[in-house]
Amino acid sequence: MSAADEARVLAAVPTGLHVDGEWAPAASGRTFDVHDPSTGDVIATVADADASDGLRALDAAVAAQAAWAAVPPRTRSDILRRAFDLLRERADDLALLMTLEMGKPLAESRGEVAYGSEFVRWASEEAVRVSGRYGTNPEGTGRTVVLKRPVGPCLLITPWNFPLAMATRKIAPALAAGCTVVVKPADLTPLTTLALVGILAEAGVPHGVVNVVTTTSAGDVCEPLIRDPRLRKLSFTGSTPVGSTLLAQASERVLRTSMELGGNAPFLVFDDADLDAAVEGALLAKFRNVGQACTAANRFLVHEDVADDFVRRVTERVAAMTLGRGTDDGVDVGPLIDDRAVDKAERLVDDAVARGAVVRTGGARVDGTGTFYEATVLDGVRPGSELLTTEIFGPVLAVSTFADEEEAVRKANDTEFGLVAYAFTRDLARGQRLAETLETGMLGLNVGVVSNASAPFGGVKASGLGREGGLEGIQEYLETVYLMTPDPFAA
Ligand code: NAD
Repeated sequence: MSAADEARVLAAVPTGLHVDGEWAPAASGRTFDVHDPSTGDVIATVADADASDGLRALDAAVAAQAAWAAVPPRTRSDILRRAFDLLRERADDLALLMTLEMGKPLAESRGEVAYGSEFVRWASEEAVRVSGRYGTNPEGTGRTVVLKRPVGPCLLITPWNFPLAMATRKIAPALAAGCTVVVKPADLTPLTTLALVGILAEAGVPHGVVNVVTTTSAGDVCEPLIRDPRLRKLSFTGSTPVGSTLLAQASERVLRTSMELGGNAPFLVFDDADLDAAVEGALLAKFRNVGQACTAANRFLVHEDVADDFVRRVTERVAAMTLGRGTDDGVDVGPLIDDRAVDKAERLVDDAVARGAVVRTGGARVDGTGTFYEATVLDGVRPGSELLTTEIFGPVLAVSTFADEEEAVRKANDTEFGLVAYAFTRDLARGQRLAETLETGMLGLNVGVVSNASAPFGGVKASGLGREGGLEGIQEYLETVYLMTPDPFAA
C-alpha cells in the first residue's frame, strides 16, 4: 500500500457524529485527534461529543425503534447481507484504515475485516430464524406461547483493540433482532467504526437505527444514557474495571447488560502434546494483534519435561520476528497502541525478571519513533510475578511449568478471570476433563484461536456476562415474553 492509498483511505472516512442519518459536528464544535501509533502522526480529527450529543443520538434511536422493529425480518436480513457484501468489497481499504489507526500488521487487519464481516453475515442469517414456541401446560388446562421481541434501544460501547469486529459483533445482532443503537467507539480508534457506519447507511439501514458518537468524555456521554429510562440495553466490551463501573450505573434501573471484559488466558502444554502444533498455536495465541487481545495467552504453563524444548522452539521463532510499521511488507509485530501500553509491558517484564524470570529474547522497549516493545520470551516466571495476575496486552510470552494435570488446572484457574483457555494434548479424555474443570467460557483444544462468528464468545467470572456470536448472540437483544391462554377445547 502506498502513501497515496493511505491518503485516499483517510480522506474517505466520515469524521462527524452520525445522528438520525446525518453526519454532523459535535454541538460544542470540539474535535479530537487520532494518531498512527507507529509514527505518532495525527491522521484524522473527529467530532468530540458531549452529553447533549449523546442524548440527541438516543432521541434518534428511540424515535426509530418502533418502525425498525416492524420492518420484516427478511428485509432486515437483506440489509445486513448487503452490508456484508460491501464490507467484503472494501476489505483492503478497511484493513489499511485499521492498521493506520491501530498499528497491527496489514495481514492481521485483513483477517479482522474477514472475521468482523462474518458477524454481519451471521446476523443476516439469524434475523429470519427468531422463533418462539407453543405448548400445552402439564395440567392440560391451558396453552403456553413463548415469543421473542426486540429489547429496544441499545447503547453499544467498544474497545480500541479490534475496531471493526467488536462493533459488528454488537451492531449486527442488535439490528437483526430489531433494535436501534447508539454506538460509542474507543477514542483511540474511532475511524474504522465510522467507516462501518457509513457502509451500513449505504446498505440501506434507515435513519436513526444506527447512531454513533465519538468522544473523549466517555463517562460524561454514556452515564446519562445508562440512567435514561428510554435506553433498554447496554452492551460493553472493554476492561473489567470500566465494566464493573457501568454495571453499577446500570443496576439502578436494572438495565439489561452484556459484558465482554478482560482475560488472563492460560495456555497449557502437556507432555504428550504435538510440540510443533503447540508452538504454532502459541505464536497465534500470543502475537495476534501484537498481544493486545482479550483472548491473548497470558500465562504459558508447560509440563516440566517438555518446557526446555518448547521454550527453545518458541524463542527461535520469536527472535526472528520483524518489528515495524504495520503497513510495511514482512512486518510481524506492529506498535503497541500508546506509551502507556509500552510502560505497562516494560513494568511487567522488569518485575518478572526481578523475581527470577530469564529473558530468552527481547525484553525491552524500542526507543525512537512510535510505541514499540520487542517481541519477548520470558522463561522460568516465578509465582508472585505481576504478569501472572494482570493482562500483559503486549508481545510478551511468559512461561512457567507444572508437574501434573492437577497442578496445571489449579494454576490455570488461579485468576479472577475466565474468558478463554488453550490446551495442547493428544489425550482426548484429558481434553474433555479440561473442558469440565477449567473455569473458562471458551477452550481452544489444540488450536491457538477460538474466535468464530458461529460460536458463542464470552467469559465466566470477572470476564463478563452474556455471549456474542453463535445462536446465543441474537438472544442478547431479544426479550422473552410468555402468553397464557385457556385450553381451546374446554367447554
Ligand atoms: P476500556 O475499558 O478502557 O475502554 C473500553 C471502552 O469503554 C472505550 O470505548 C472507552 O472509551 C469506554 N469507556 C471508558 N470509561 C468509560 C466510562 N466511564 N463510561 C463509559 N464508557 C467508558 O478498555 P480498552 O483499553 O479500550 O480495551 C482493552 C480491554 O478490553 C482489555 O481489558 C480487553 O481484555 C478487553 N476486551 C475484551 C473483549 C472480550 O470480548 N471479552 C474483547 C476485546 C477487548
